[in-house]
Amino acid sequence: MNYYNSIVETIGNTPMVKLNKIFKGIQGTVLAKVEYFNPGNSTKDRMALKMIEDAEAAGILKPGGTIIEGTSGNTGMGLALTAIAKGYRCIFTMADKQSQEKINILRAVGAEVIVCPTNVAPDDPRSYYSVARKLNKEIPNSIYPNQYDNPSNAKAHYLATGPEIWKQTEGKITHYVATVGTGGSMCGTAKFLKEQNPKLVTVGIDTYGSVFKKYKETGIFDENEIYPYLTEGFGEDILPKNVDFSVIDMFIKVTDKDGALMTRRLSREEGMFVGWSSGSAVHGALEYAKENLKKDDVMVILLPDHGTRYLAKVYNDNWMKDHGFLETRMFASTARDIIQARNGKDSLCTVANKAKVSEAILLMNKEGIDQIPVTEGEHFVGSVSSSMLLEKIMEDPELKHKSITEVMDKPMQFVAPDSTLDVLSSFLNKENKAVLVRDENQKVHIITRHDVLKAISS
Ligand code: PMP
Repeated sequence: MNYYNSIVETIGNTPMVKLNKIFKGIQGTVLAKVEYFNPGNSTKDRMALKMIEDAEAAGILKPGGTIIEGTSGNTGMGLALTAIAKGYRCIFTMADKQSQEKINILRAVGAEVIVCPTNVAPDDPRSYYSVARKLNKEIPNSIYPNQYDNPSNAKAHYLATGPEIWKQTEGKITHYVATVGTGGSMCGTAKFLKEQNPKLVTVGIDTYGSVFKKYKETGIFDENEIYPYLTEGFGEDILPKNVDFSVIDMFIKVTDKDGALMTRRLSREEGMFVGWSSGSAVHGALEYAKENLKKDDVMVILLPDHGTRYLAKVYNDNWMKDHGFLETRMFASTARDIIQARNGKDSLCTVANKAKVSEAILLMNKEGIDQIPVTEGEHFVGSVSSSMLLEKIMEDPELKHKSITEVMDKPMQFVAPDSTLDVLSSFLNKENKAVLVRDENQKVHIITRHDVLKAISS
């Protein structure tokens, strides 16, 4: 008889499928490694099983133990399946930006899920990283596998995903493209493939709002690069140990919108009903392939998960319209258009964090502006607005003589140059009076609510 002893034995050996329509006209062969064929419908099944097997082998996880993890859902699914097969309890912490489907799915396979706020710093006690750590300390016989830093994560891909791709392409693979979250599926696979062929090129896919690309290019961990984004599962505000920058040759950043639209194309044009990050990976890969791929090249793109988890988002037309991702949107212009309309006449006014509050007020009066970013050297460390200063000075007139650092609000968020007016307006609210945009020449521009209103009415 031909059967498996438990569901986890079906993990791995996923098929590779040619992308026929999306890469039409591009030289070379482009193949998708379709990871939703894993039993938990994602590539994360591989490393979930490996983290548990390695913990058992090391004697850290004992029968009847509890597995606690901070997960965007897919690792949770892999861990939950492994826990069922091996008899463990699972508790997962998750950021509240994740789709409700992901939470429901985890509860369906018997896990306990704790939802935590997205927009807090990783070291904030409310963050899903911190809550997971705290539970691990409190619950006896529990383990916190910590997919970000656990070497078993990348190792699972080094031992399986890499060799599978090498075998499936008969060693002909020349380019490997994957999204980078914890880094496991990119770096474990890349390490193996580069050992077979040191000339192989790897392209990591990053999001706007994440630190990876800048860190790779400059060695700087720039907190100003961090802002909330919608895409789920990759891009980070931390540097996980599983991200081995030495095996990632370059990063390409993909916007939420481009990723979402390509996700829908994969379903409709290739019949691959994949998740959002798959669309981001393919969009970035296409951008790279257009310029670089040659006739004999073989590019493999890892597609991490399945579309069912995104029915309420990427596959919901109303949600797409609300976010300005569908072309039926009312306002076609973007942050770039607003900046270009200034004809290079704008220069960003900033105030140093060491300056006095009175100096900022003087500057705002002189320039006729209502908000101003606060800088420390090249970094954007805060912001002040006239209404906020007025309110605070009314309470304490002495504040005028104090330094800006004592009164400033959080820094303005950076948004991508091709953010549409709809997206810009969703960022601009009572708390965020302006956003910043770094253009292709690294020059920083400010966009206020007034700018967006002007663009809408013109
Ligand atoms: N896409 C999705 C949907 C994911 O869940 C993950 C895992 N966080 C990734 C991409 C990135 O994979 P990795 O953690 O291996 O970098």
